[in-house]
Amino acid sequence: MWDQDGRRYLDGSSGAMVCNIGHSNKNVLTAMRRQMEKSTFGYRLHFETEASEQLASKLVGLMPDGLNRVFFVSGGSEAVETAIKLARQHAVSTGQNSRWKVISRRPSYHGCSLGALAVTGYDPLTAPFMPMMQDMPKVPAPRAYLDGLNPDDPATGAHYANMLEAQIQAEGPNSVLAFLVEPVGGASTGALVPPNGYMERIREICDHYGILLIMDEVMTGVGRTGAFLGSDHWDARPDIVVMSKGLGAGYIPLGAVIAGDALVAPILETGGFAHGFTYAGNPLACATGLAVLHEIEMQGLCANAAAMGDTLLARLKSLMQKYELIGDVRGKGLLTAFEFMADRDTKAPLPPHLNAHQRFVDLAYARGLIVYSRRTRGGTEGDHILVCPPLIANTQHIDEIMHGLDASMA
Ligand code: PMP
Repeated sequence: MWDQDGRRYLDGSSGAMVCNIGHSNKNVLTAMRRQMEKSTFGYRLHFETEASEQLASKLVGLMPDGLNRVFFVSGGSEAVETAIKLARQHAVSTGQNSRWKVISRRPSYHGCSLGALAVTGYDPLTAPFMPMMQDMPKVPAPRAYLDGLNPDDPATGAHYANMLEAQIQAEGPNSVLAFLVEPVGGASTGALVPPNGYMERIREICDHYGILLIMDEVMTGVGRTGAFLGSDHWDARPDIVVMSKGLGAGYIPLGAVIAGDALVAPILETGGFAHGFTYAGNPLACATGLAVLHEIEMQGLCANAAAMGDTLLARLKSLMQKYELIGDVRGKGLLTAFEFMADRDTKAPLPPHLNAHQRFVDLAYARGLIVYSRRTRGGTEGDHILVCPPLIANTQHIDEIMHGLDASMA
């Protein structure tokens, strides 16, 4: 990217992990122009369009078996709202009125609308809006690196997953509607990869209690972690998939919620889904999404994200050896992060007043490298830097990113 003064930047965070195929892709721009010349809007209650039908069937082909119903929206928060309402209306239409609680994790980020905030475990973003919003139950995110547990040991996965079971029992199993989870944690946990056994055990627990498993793939979807869905890495089939960012890939606001017939049919039989946004599924957005998916496939970007992600993670681990300040490095595919710590042994964070994560972002920016930062530990400490270049990254880009990170660390 170049700014108006001609300064060059390498986008090492794909904006906010959204520009998965890079900026100004010619094929996507051409597809957008063609669709604009044909038609830009058809209201969803009046028309299905060729573009929305094609994108829906393309997406279904990329989903785990049985996830064959698609509902389009215009962003991640809208997608999360839609998934929660879909789950709730399924419960109501199948006589399970008592089920309404959606358990999620702390820390987590699922969007900025009031419903999405209710399932977000990130105090700086939720506290100002209490008591205007419902606060849903949260279980701890599986941060084995902070708790001194071995993430490769299946007992670690079971340990964290069993906290979900305890929470379900505390809430009363018949009051719980769904569990909402990011397969690999994004902004709030900094590329947190679940420990072995966690995702499979979560699936078992949801099955046992008749609870829907909603996978928030807003950040992890569309190849970011080296597979089309982040959850494809584990044997933990979602009941509902929530997608956005990489689907419109920075070219257009677009999101999708995907579920199976078994979930959708009872809703349709009892009067239909009482939900929908005006811009949902507009042909321009859908034609753009289709062109983005075409690029992902033609350029083999899931495989490239896996390969470049391995390289990037290894190089970040070398950076950690060089700088004591880096206390942890983690990630999957091109969703990677490192976290600053005052002391690696005690895992003590840097004092919040140093604002280390923002200062690091500024240092990198001054060197022409864009990275993304947040705080992990409930949002007030645990500075981390997300390094998530577009999935088209090659080894020269990784070299340039590492050079910028090293110089900024120094
Ligand atoms: N879920 C996750 C996992 C996200 O990372 C985000 C955005 N960072 C959202 C939901 C909300 O998406 P949006 O900003 O498009 O509303």
